[in-house]
Amino acid sequence: MYPDTLLLIDGQWTSGSSGNDQSVLNPANGEVIGKVAHADRRDLDRALEAADRGYRKWKVTSPMQRSAALRKAAELLRTRVEEISLTLTLEQGKPLSEARIETLHSADVMDWFAEEARRTYGRIIPARSEGVMQLVVKEPVGPVAAFTPWNFPLNQVVRKCSAAIAAGCSIIVKGPEETPASCAALIRALLDGGVPKDVVQLVFGVPAEISEYLIPHPVIRKITFTGSTPVGKQLAALAGQHMKRITMELGGHAPAIVFADADIDAAASLLAAAKFRNAGQVCISPTRFLVQDTVFDQFVERFTAATDSIAVGDGRLATTQMGPLANERRLQAMEMFVSDAVQKGAKVRTGGTRVGNRGNFFKPTVLVDVNHEMRIMHEEPFGPLAPIMPFQDFDAVVKEANRLPFGLAAYAYTRSSKIATAIGSAFESGMVSINHHGLGLPEVPFGGVKDSGYGSEGGSEAIDAYLNTKFISQLGH
Ligand code: NAD
Repeated sequence: MYPDTLLLIDGQWTSGSSGNDQSVLNPANGEVIGKVAHADRRDLDRALEAADRGYRKWKVTSPMQRSAALRKAAELLRTRVEEISLTLTLEQGKPLSEARIETLHSADVMDWFAEEARRTYGRIIPARSEGVMQLVVKEPVGPVAAFTPWNFPLNQVVRKCSAAIAAGCSIIVKGPEETPASCAALIRALLDGGVPKDVVQLVFGVPAEISEYLIPHPVIRKITFTGSTPVGKQLAALAGQHMKRITMELGGHAPAIVFADADIDAAASLLAAAKFRNAGQVCISPTRFLVQDTVFDQFVERFTAATDSIAVGDGRLATTQMGPLANERRLQAMEMFVSDAVQKGAKVRTGGTRVGNRGNFFKPTVLVDVNHEMRIMHEEPFGPLAPIMPFQDFDAVVKEANRLPFGLAAYAYTRSSKIATAIGSAFESGMVSINHHGLGLPEVPFGGVKDSGYGSEGGSEAIDAYLNTKFISQLGH
């Protein structure tokens, strides 16, 4: 039912030169379900050679042809949705319903970039002298090295691959070793859709060994990474030493503000759904809940009730609304965050412990009486924890919202258009969603500021990250 995952190098699915591999576990029960091959430098060299060759061909392939391959791949993902979603649930833990949404969303992302492929326009700038033509031309940046994580094994990789392929780049993906098979299924759809075998390569292995080899390599012209801020800073520093272009989608700690005039019931139920999606392992997950003091008790009561109603279980069961955490590290992190907060005075309104002792299940958790001494108020929890803190007025909540070095997503609930406009502009954040949860669509920008990284992986900005601007001034015809 669950496939082993091989490397994809120059069109061949291969077990890698060293023969090394690692086990893949089902986070719902801890059982080994398969394995993933590891690449060493010999494999990376072959991937680099293919990527170099593929780039030279693909950059002169018409955008219409690149677009057609992405569209075909999108259709294949839709046709294969059930098989891919089950694979994703088995290795990552999320409910099948969320896995289906992720697979279909990935198809939509491919379609978006298929359209963008045809819109990599340049421009003509009027010249100062007669007979001179001044052209601005967009060219693909070159072979890309992409590093993608385990929380959305499809959605994190599809934005990078589709943008690169649309722009005329080749790409080497270092996929997530803990959730490799769904990522491999997406890459397979690209090949089956008509993306040439030397344009997309897929490797797994020891992440630091692969990034330390690929980032400085002269063939690679662009680095894109999604993951934690500390790792992102290391990779950005290495890319900087070699003057490589980068896109960094890093951690967040999103403030979610509920003003006194908000529809409290709607805010509680929408925020609970957003918080516990993918068991909170979402970079744009609402994290610091800041609620105006006059409605604090009411909100906590409604939010806790919504939290208590979430059915936790194996993602394969139709009744499950929240699956296990994707790996044991997250389970240990949740226990650490809760015990640290409780030691420093927090009260657990619901949850706070793991469920049973098999699989990485943790109860959806609500914490009150939280303060700035607690680690959860500084560090990205990346799990199903909701600390709720009261605030008095607009200025105080803006200060709290912008207190941390992160700046990815921010949320607010209010019935006042004046407050909505003011808070939208006050947030130091790459994305803001007010009175609903409206982030992450293919056609809208996606990215952060401050320690959350830079560059956008959505909207019309996204393809620019894979294009260079060339200026040509030409006299005579
Ligand atoms: P981690 O920080 O070691 O790894 C995060 C990701 O980076 C993983 O996919 C990993 O394979 C990759 N990675 C790590 N070191 C690397 C290296 N030297 N070169 C290339 N890739 C490397 O830890 P983790 O336990 O996997 O995740 C912990 C934290 O990472 C989470 O708490 C969360 O803050 C963050 N994270 C963020 C996202 C996101 O969507 N922005 C996704 C996954 C994890």
